[in-house]
Amino acid sequence: MLAWLSSAKPEYGRFILLDRDGVLNVNRPDYVKTLAEVRFYPDGLEALAFLESRGVGVILVSNQSGINRGLIGWEDFREIHEGLIRRAEESGGRIQAAFYCPHRPDEKCECRKPAPAMIFSACRHAGIDPGETFFVGDSESDMKAAENARCRGVRIYRGDSDGAGPGAPEELHYPTLLDAVFSLYGKNI
Ligand SMILES: [Mg+2]
Ligand SMILES: [Zn+2]
Repeated sequence: MLAWLSSAKPEYGRFILLDRDGVLNVNRPDYVKTLAEVRFYPDGLEALAFLESRGVGVILVSNQSGINRGLIGWEDFREIHEGLIRRAEESGGRIQAAFYCPHRPDEKCECRKPAPAMIFSACRHAGIDPGETFFVGDSESDMKAAENARCRGVRIYRGDSDGAGPGAPEELHYPTLLDAVFSLYGKNI
């Protein structure tokens, strides 16, 4: 598991955990391999700004098996990560920490979602209880990870994400990240 923790340490009263590809930026079947391939959803950046304005700290929790598949170089991975942090800040948002799993499924690591390890690490870092924390993802494995960590799964169906449509009724479903955070944190308060 790779962990990046912001050196700035603003005091957030609450935190939200976000998957990356398919939630903040457009996922690619052949993996997001370079910064040039990162295409942010406009609502994703707006959502980050909204969360910052609400005092909600953002922590990314992302599988990046393209690294150990040999498709994403370490330098590119670092550039993508730093580009993400920068774009978030340029848009008025902030990413407080990020946890990545670089492993392939066949490596049987303990961090790859749907395993709960990255969610647990994120919650430990933030000092929050998984049971009172939302984890927003766009895939089945995200929702399984949420379930395995006993945190609250929120699923985004953008139409270009995997999955045919809303599944388990206990999940919260939204068409975009912005819809999700408006609903979870009150647009008009
Ligand atoms: Mg995803
Ligand atoms: Zn892993």
